[in-house]
Amino acid sequence: VPPRKTVRDYIRTIPDFPKPGIMFRDVTSLFADPRGFRICVDQLLDPFAGQRFDKVVALEARGFILGGAIAHQLNVGFVPVRKAGKLPGATLSEEYQLEYGEATVEIHDDALAEGEKVLVVDDLLATGGTAEAGVRLCERLGAEVIGCSFVIDLPALGGRARLERMGLRVETLCA
Ligand code: 5GP
Repeated sequence: VPPRKTVRDYIRTIPDFPKPGIMFRDVTSLFADPRGFRICVDQLLDPFAGQRFDKVVALEARGFILGGAIAHQLNVGFVPVRKAGKLPGATLSEEYQLEYGEATVEIHDDALAEGEKVLVVDDLLATGGTAEAGVRLCERLGAEVIGCSFVIDLPALGGRARLERMGLRVETLCA
């Protein structure tokens, strides 16, 4: 019998997307596979077995797909961190630097309560800029970020080190 596929085996790498020289990790092939999606969600939760959470906070857009499944599995609420201008209610904003220029992410200012325990979720950790901005939004609302979970880590880009320097627990499934 052939060995069973791992999460990593379901992810495709597409060269030159969104621009020449970038090797884009495509998780749609992971999410499209019923076993791939299930083992991915299960493995993201494994390191936190026994931990109580109040909310899952996920980053637009692929983080929403994972975060929704994880929140359902944990029986907790789901909170989106969205790109600027997308959330209808009153928001807090965080700006962060991109390779060229900057980006802004937002959270509803009543989405988390003081002391709530949060898991932050996204598909991929690169420089960590997006995740750091998401974590800051949670912390500004008084929530406690118990951990940050990603399917893919690109350690050469420094995101894990950056989040760990903030004192955060970082869990990833593959590089
Ligand atoms: P960072 O802020 O850590 O530099 O970049 C991470 C963000 O960019 C995540 O929200 C992630 O979805 C997105 N991202 C960057 N590169 C890739 C990639 O190759 N594949 C996927 N699926 N997302 C990426």
